[in-house]
Amino acid sequence: MSLAMQVGQMPRRPNPSKQPSAAPISPTASQTIFQARGLRKVYQTGELDVVALQGVDLDFHMGELVVLLGASGSGKSTLLNILGGLDVPTAGSLRYKGWDLSGGGERTLTQFRRNCVGFVFQFYNLIPSLTARENVALITEIAPDPMKPEDALDRVGLSHRLDHFPSQLSGGEQQRVAIARAIAKKPEVLLCDEPTGALDVTTGITVLEAIERINRELGTLTVVITHNAAMAAMADRVLHLSDGHIIKESHNEQRVDVKTLQW
Ligand code: ADP
Ligand code: MG
Repeated sequence: MSLAMQVGQMPRRPNPSKQPSAAPISPTASQTIFQARGLRKVYQTGELDVVALQGVDLDFHMGELVVLLGASGSGKSTLLNILGGLDVPTAGSLRYKGWDLSGGGERTLTQFRRNCVGFVFQFYNLIPSLTARENVALITEIAPDPMKPEDALDRVGLSHRLDHFPSQLSGGEQQRVAIARAIAKKPEVLLCDEPTGALDVTTGITVLEAIERINRELGTLTVVITHNAAMAAMADRVLHLSDGHIIKESHNEQRVDVKTLQW
């Protein structure tokens, strides 16, 4: 089966009854969409090898909000980049639904990134000469089934800032434009790397509220990376990363309202 056919057959929205026919991850875990086993990543820089991931196993399920918590240098960004198809592991396997992201080649990764993943990074990477609406439209113009830029910006509470340029927006507003840009193509997965890292607490909370709302209203599997332990309470599940290992997993029976978080 060609990749294009596989892409065409992939459900755009979470739909457990409609798994792709190619290689389901596990017959008993129909909600699992990501499965990583033994992920290792070694960076070779000159003489020295840096082992950033030392055998990570994880499953992610449709629609959950996961916080990936770890100190600086623990391998969080490395893991997120691999999950998002921006990089490949040195060893181990990574599957997303029927797709092999660890051995599938650049074409698979490109299709995966384009169709399935939205990214939010610490720095917003907006184009300064474009308005909020135009920054989001850059993505909606090339996505197969996007929402309107105005709808994406409405979901992050920025309906009143459509025609503002980045320089006319606060840091928190710029980050929310970046979130709108990430979700405008209706990805099944939203990956956020230290989304509040450049923001003060109050502004950071408004950004986390936007992320939580996207997860809740759109059912987007959401992974938030942070070194800030206070953010763990907003998640369904918390994975603790240390020195390239997942050392602990915890579940929150109830997600804490983001507004009440403090740090
Ligand atoms: P975190 O996001 O948790 O701070 P990273 O994944 O960025 O951690 O980094 C994990 C380890 O890998 C660190 O020791 C870091 O210096 C190293 N590292 C990350 N990216 C590279 C790279 N491109 N080349 C070499 N070493 C890297
Ligand atoms: Mg990082």
